[in-house]
Amino acid sequence: MARGLAGGTRLVLASHNPGKLAELADLLRSHDVSVVSAGALGLPEPPEDAPDFAGNARIKALAAARASDLPALADDSGFCVAALGGAPGVHSARWGGADKDFAAAMARVHREMGNAADRRAWFVAALCLAWPDGHTETFIGRVDGTAIWPPRGTKGFGYDPMFVPAGSTTTFGELDADKKHTVSHRARAFSQLLVACVTRPR
Ligand code: IMP
Repeated sequence: MARGLAGGTRLVLASHNPGKLAELADLLRSHDVSVVSAGALGLPEPPEDAPDFAGNARIKALAAARASDLPALADDSGFCVAALGGAPGVHSARWGGADKDFAAAMARVHREMGNAADRRAWFVAALCLAWPDGHTETFIGRVDGTAIWPPRGTKGFGYDPMFVPAGSTTTFGELDADKKHTVSHRARAFSQLLVACVTRPR
């Protein structure tokens, strides 16, 4: 049985990415949890050097929980392509470079895929909830689909314009945010976390 968050808990969101902070705060809005960001508490960003999403989420959540003495929630996510052996995967952010150029990162995925017949791709999100005593609970969400070229749509971020989820004809880049948030990898991980650890809606 997973450890739950007590009602009224102050929870640290262990991310320095404003987009993710807004999305996580939004997902927690109707629950009995107040959120504060790692940035607002001046917490340092630990190196994300684990080989998988769950490992990186755990590093971030544990570092924030220990430094703040509060429960902390961290997310790690990325885009995976079957023909590239799962790359860019945990290196998804890095493929965008220092200037976060995801048009260039998508072009690299396209170039490296070449004419591969296998166009399968998926997004993964790992969410880790950590407590100052070192306990952690981790949840993985995944959405499967196809890598397409050329990219389509100007909504969303990152690799959204080159990903069509299974059963759809539109890319994530063509979906409104509220629609994407019902089907995304992060939403899937988050709903597992809510069921397991956040038991008391307001
Ligand atoms: P993180 O901050 O290390 O988790 O970086 C995740 C990276 O994966 C982001 O910079 C994006 O490039 C990519 N990514 C994760 N989730 C999504 C998504 O929902 N849409 C598009 N790209 C995503």
